[in-house]
Amino acid sequence: HAKSQGKGRWSFFTEEMHNESVAIKQLSSDLLVACEKRQFIPFFQPVIDAVTGSISCAEVLVRWAHATRGILPPDAFLDTATNIGILKKIDEIVFGYLHEALAYFDATGVDLPRVAVNISAGRLADPSFIHDIKSSHINPERLIVEILESVYLERMGDVVRWALDELDDLGVTVAIDDFGTGHASVQGLLKIRPAILKIDRQFIQPIVKDNNSRALVSSIVGIGKSLGMKIVAEGVETEEHARRVKKIGCDYLQGFYFGKPMCADDLRDKLIATGGKFWSPMTARP
Ligand code: C2E
Ligand code: MG
Ligand code: MG
Ligand code: MG
Repeated sequence: HAKSQGKGRWSFFTEEMHNESVAIKQLSSDLLVACEKRQFIPFFQPVIDAVTGSISCAEVLVRWAHATRGILPPDAFLDTATNIGILKKIDEIVFGYLHEALAYFDATGVDLPRVAVNISAGRLADPSFIHDIKSSHINPERLIVEILESVYLERMGDVVRWALDELDDLGVTVAIDDFGTGHASVQGLLKIRPAILKIDRQFIQPIVKDNNSRALVSSIVGIGKSLGMKIVAEGVETEEHARRVKKIGCDYLQGFYFGKPMCADDLRDKLIATGGKFWSPMTARP
């Protein structure tokens, strides 16, 4: 009896595994079609200057405008896109639409000082990325390129070094994203010398309740600042969070408290309604 039960379970799992691989195959082929049709669009999340409370930049976050399933977030497709080698293509498509979005903001008279784009290791190592920046009409000084800290460990080959030097020459700002989640190394920071360090929300979120987290964030801020970097706190969800990270010395704040990622139209409306001022740090409850 036990034997047949075991067998039944075994075939249940293989069926599940089979269904999963069918789903991944389907997703992969849908993604290829979506690339052809350029169905990846930029959403925007405000990043706030901790001193003035005004928007300092918007982070560009990809969404898949799926024909039947609606707007899909990156967790629904980035892993598969990476595995089938099309992440750099998606980055390229998003950059193309970003160009349109900025032209639209500028034409409607809203002031968005800077934009931060997430760039995969593959895209950074592809010389067409630098070429696209040069041939776009985006002012390079308005552009921040976010790379994951793993890039400087996995891909610190000559091409990446070349790309980072080119970005520097063009006046593009480089930020290290999700700092602390990969194999963070201070040596890596010294190699890249990013102008901006973004501390991942997993370190930021516990600081309200946990003294050790606060001490950790405080020392990361200290290291970054002593190297001349500006610090962004990610995942700021409440007023108290905002006050704490500001007090610790973070220069910029990003999180649902100030705004979730939104489409270009919504960002434009929000910029008009607020005049770019998302927070009043002075009148915030002490
Ligand atoms: P990221 O670059 O670290 O972006 C921040 C993520 O945190 C976003 O998720 C954002 O919606 C989320 N977030 C922001 N504030 C809060 C908050 O207060 N609470 C919580 N719980 N979450 C918050 P999203 O849009 O799902 O993007 C996930 C990741 O996907 C990004 O993390 C980035 O690594 C990657 N990604 C997004 N767009 C692109 C892209 O165009 N190219 C590449 N290569 N990667 C991208
Ligand atoms: Mg990012
Ligand atoms: Mg991040
Ligand atoms: Mg992230």
